[in-house]
Amino acid sequence: MQDTSTDVVVVGAGNAAMCAALSARESGASVIVLEWADIENRGGNSAYTAGNIRTVFNGNDDIISLCSDLSEEEIKISDFGTYTQDQFYDDMGRITEYRTDPDMCEALITKSLDTMHWMKDKGVRFLPIYGKQAYKIDGRFVFWGGLVVSAWGGGPGLVDALHEKAEKDGIEVRYETRALKLIHDDDGVHGVRVKQQGGKSYNINARSVVLACGGFESNAEWRTRYLGPGWDLAKVRGTRYNMGDGIAMALEAGARPHGNWSGCHAVGWDYNAPEFGDLAVGDNFQKHSYPWGLMINANGERFVDEGADFRNYTYAKYGRAVLEQPNQMAWQVFDSKIIPMLRDEYRIRQVTKVKANTIEELAAKLEGVDAEAFLREIKEYNAAVTTDVKFDPNVKDGRRTNGLAIDKTNWANTIDEGPFEAYQTTCGVTFSFGGLKINHENGKVLDPADQAIPGLYAAGELVGGLFYNNYPGGTGLMAGSVFGKIAGTAAGKDAVGNA
Ligand SMILES: Cc1cc2nc3c(=O)[nH]c(=O)nc-3n(C[C@H](O)[C@H](O)[C@H](O)COP(=O)(O)OP(=O)(O)OC[C@H]3O[C@@H](n4cnc5c(N)ncnc54)[C@H](O)[C@@H]3O)c2cc1C
Repeated sequence: MQDTSTDVVVVGAGNAAMCAALSARESGASVIVLEWADIENRGGNSAYTAGNIRTVFNGNDDIISLCSDLSEEEIKISDFGTYTQDQFYDDMGRITEYRTDPDMCEALITKSLDTMHWMKDKGVRFLPIYGKQAYKIDGRFVFWGGLVVSAWGGGPGLVDALHEKAEKDGIEVRYETRALKLIHDDDGVHGVRVKQQGGKSYNINARSVVLACGGFESNAEWRTRYLGPGWDLAKVRGTRYNMGDGIAMALEAGARPHGNWSGCHAVGWDYNAPEFGDLAVGDNFQKHSYPWGLMINANGERFVDEGADFRNYTYAKYGRAVLEQPNQMAWQVFDSKIIPMLRDEYRIRQVTKVKANTIEELAAKLEGVDAEAFLREIKEYNAAVTTDVKFDPNVKDGRRTNGLAIDKTNWANTIDEGPFEAYQTTCGVTFSFGGLKINHENGKVLDPADQAIPGLYAAGELVGGLFYNNYPGGTGLMAGSVFGKIAGTAAGKDAVGNA
């Protein structure tokens, strides 16, 4: 390939990148998208998701207007509730322990619904998450947890829809092309040096560059350096390509590191899952019904309050808790009262599972666990459950234990009716929280003096400041969409002189 010129280069081809590319094009700019992966593996982590996306909505009408494929019958039997701006602010504040950057958080929340409509106009179809975010009560689906919409076809459907629109809009995507470094001088950024797989490196000169090429979660060395010892041993839930390249390039050009560099999103993940994600399995290696059961480590002991909150609000931090256990391992244990309620991901072929009719038999089958200590733990736990409160998975039911070193504060069911099942998990890292600092109004990358680096924009996982320690489910895609659109619009306008 020879050196090329364009108005805007977007690095990455996941959700944030494609929202940036489409909005830059909408601003009248010519756009080239760079994707390190080949076409089959395009779309980064966005392609591995279930496509669940957290947006503000003020009632059924907002969801109906987003989900055009809903039938009259479906509308009749659905109670979506609300997820107001205030609710979203409360969740972001509480979940990040009030560390989230207020300006970025405000932009995310206030622009979420409009951005969803913009994506819909670009061809993304949305539908309610009947399976995982609603329970059927008296014939109606009642949604919980503020997360009610996903992209049709999940992550792959979302990525395909954005790429289809990009093709229609005349946006060129260069596959198997890795961005190596920014072309920059005292006047700012003027393009990207890239290398095609097996080919020679060359320059793409551009007026604006949008970095949207993910965090550093796929890089074992960076994980160990920034997240800490042991993180090299985590499995990667998604793409192998998010090596921190975008962050490294921007820092080299003078950007400020920002956000929770020692924090990440990580979940309980099948113990025998491959080192990186498998698009055929998607996010089904996750095991997220733990709030209804128990998690036990190699010492036969519980180590977290499994019922501290709805899974949406605990799953992203419990991966770290599993990583901290001996052999980075935990078994999730359920009895026959709960087994029919387990999420679909427990029924996939690629699952590490044991089953037994008695708890003693189960104890003997839990590989790597002190069986006697496990039986003692179950006995103590069962004795501590307050059985006079009714189990209700729709609300934080307050059915709890009392007097344990680590109490279970909701959904505390006794583990006493066979057959029993247990699922072996380890830590699966989703994405890193630390990254670059941007201006929330235009996505421009900032230097340590909070001055914009001319020509440089960023969006998605590689932007720091939104998430600290934990994360409300479905917010990653929404953040990528909101800030991708913001960055792409500004990058496009700046490039064609319409700012
Ligand atoms: C299994 C799983 C399930 C998830 N489920 C959800 C969910 O349901 N809802 C939700 O909101 N979030 C979910 N997330 C998180 C979500 O995936 C991310 O927050 C979001 O997709 C990040 O989008 P992005 O565009 O910033 O990065 P990505 O989608 O990861 O895109 C990064 C892109 O950059 C490319 N790239 C990297 N380096 C280079 C380079 N040097 N040159 C060129 N290209 C490069 C990659 O190939 C890729 O195309 C999930 C993540 C995983 C892994």
